[in-house]
Amino acid sequence: MAYKATIPINWCPSCKVGLANEEVVEGMCERCGSPVIRKEKSQWMLRITRYADRLIDDLDDLDFIERVKIQQKNWIGRSTGCEVTFKTNTDDDITVFTTRADTLFGVTYMVISPEHPLLAKWKDLIANWDEVQAYREAASRKSDFERGELNKDKTGVKLEGIEVTNPATGEIVPMFVSDYVLMGYGTGIVMGVPGHDQRDWEFASVFRSSRSSPAATSRRRPSSPRTRMRSWSTPASSTA
Ligand SMILES: [Zn+2]
Repeated sequence: MAYKATIPINWCPSCKVGLANEEVVEGMCERCGSPVIRKEKSQWMLRITRYADRLIDDLDDLDFIERVKIQQKNWIGRSTGCEVTFKTNTDDDITVFTTRADTLFGVTYMVISPEHPLLAKWKDLIANWDEVQAYREAASRKSDFERGELNKDKTGVKLEGIEVTNPATGEIVPMFVSDYVLMGYGTGIVMGVPGHDQRDWEFASVFRSSRSSPAATSRRRPSSPRTRMRSWSTPASSTA
């Protein structure tokens, strides 16, 4: 059940320790107030994902207050779904894990985690690499907690030059990098289905208030490189 892996963690450069998400307060170390960075570190992990079903099912037999059991269930997480492969205009196919394969027809964009290794591999293919790289650095200074649950203002940058084909419709859809997608969940790439998913809807609606929507860029306008060069962020965001 235990294994060693190199993954990014919350790291306080001053205390020289890894911090739990709860120990990072607004991007700062709870102990000393230094800005927390994300650091790749080799560490021992517990394979709770592989044992998720058993861990969750056995909670039923545990004599403990229900509230805590529910918290534990949510923390362990259980997702049943399947992997879907998408072709891109690069040499790499991409794979997403989805619990809702039935929504494939509604996919209007893809979102990749800032830590995904494909980004560095695609460096020369991404026309706005400097912008993407700056976004990745900003994301590395946030905790998973800030990027996930606390993340009310979604931000992202469109990957100029990268295109993905929706296998269900044959439609070409754009890809964004956004820090709400964590490498730790699924494959680090998610499909954007604004019609079905609240979070996707938020992401898409923020985009809509900017110059163009992910849906609009997908096929109606094979727009000029100039109009597609824009990244976006919400006014409240500090990561732009
Ligand atoms: Zn510290």
